[in-house]
Amino acid sequence: MKTTQLPKYDLEKLFPKIKELLKITTRLHPRQAKKIGLTDSKFGGDIIWPKNEYWPMCSEPIYSFDKIQNTPHNEKFITVLQLNAKDIKNMDFPANKDLFQLLWCPADHPISDYSPILKGFWRNAKDITDLKTSFPESGEPNDNYLITECSIFPEIVYEYPSAFELETIDKELSKAIFGWESTFTEPIYQHQLSVADGCKVGGYIYWHQDPNVPICKCGKFMEHLLTISDTEFDGGSYKRWCPIEDNENIMSLPYPERKKIQNPLNINFGMGKIYVFVCKDCHDWPIESVYQR
Ligand SMILES: [Zn+2]
Ligand SMILES: [Zn+2]
Repeated sequence: MKTTQLPKYDLEKLFPKIKELLKITTRLHPRQAKKIGLTDSKFGGDIIWPKNEYWPMCSEPIYSFDKIQNTPHNEKFITVLQLNAKDIKNMDFPANKDLFQLLWCPADHPISDYSPILKGFWRNAKDITDLKTSFPESGEPNDNYLITECSIFPEIVYEYPSAFELETIDKELSKAIFGWESTFTEPIYQHQLSVADGCKVGGYIYWHQDPNVPICKCGKFMEHLLTISDTEFDGGSYKRWCPIEDNENIMSLPYPERKKIQNPLNINFGMGKIYVFVCKDCHDWPIESVYQR
C-alpha cells in the first residue's frame, strides 16, 4: 500500500472558493516487482493480446544521431500500461469493455514532438481467449523509453488545479493564493497543495508548461485520461507526493535506491511527462498524447 501525505495547509479553510475546483485522481504508484501476472494491471512487461491480432509496429520517421532519419524505421511497439477497470475506480470504460492497454513506439518522432507515438486499446478481457505467444523482435529502441515492469498500487487522492491552470480558471482566486504563498520560501501551492505529481489516472494535469489540451477529430476538446511521468516527484514536490511508506530521508538515499521510488519505470523524458487524452464522444474512444518537459 502507498499513502499520500495529507496537505500541510487546509486550502478550503483559507480559500473556501477552491472547494468548487476539487477533483479526484488515482495515483498509480508503480514499483518494481517480480512475478507480475499477465492479466494484472501494471506498467511494462508482457500483456494479454489476442492471438490473431497483429502486434503494432511503427514505420514513422524518427530523430536520432542529431537529425531526422528519412528512412522509416521498423520498430516494435512496447507495453506502457495495462489497466483493469476493477482497479481504477475513477476511470470510465466504453460499454462492455473492462481493459485498457497502452503501447508506445520507443523512439523520438518528429510528428509527436520528438517523443514516443502512443496507441490505446479498449477491450473486454473475456474476449481474449487465445493468447498471442510470439511477438516481433525489437529494432533499435531508444533506451530512454524502455519501461521496467512494475506493479501498481492505486490510491485515490484529492487535488486542485496546477498553478498554471488556476490562473486561467479563476484569476481572483489565483491572485489571493499566490499572495498568501509569497510569504513562503518555495512555491508551496504548486509543489505540495494542488495537483498530484507522478503517474496517475484522471484529475488535473501537472502541466510543466502552458496548458495544451488537444482537439479531437470530431472537433471537441479531449479529456485527460492519464499521465505517464518519468519521476514520481522532484526536489520540490517530494515533501507532499512521496508516499508516507517511502518518505524517510528519501532525498538523501543513495541514487540507485532513491531511483527505485522516484523513477521505478526507469524511463527518461528529461524530467518530463506524457499526458494522454481521450474523446468519449467518438465511438472508438480515440486517444492523443502531449509531451511536456
Ligand atoms: Zn516509431
Ligand atoms: Zn471525438
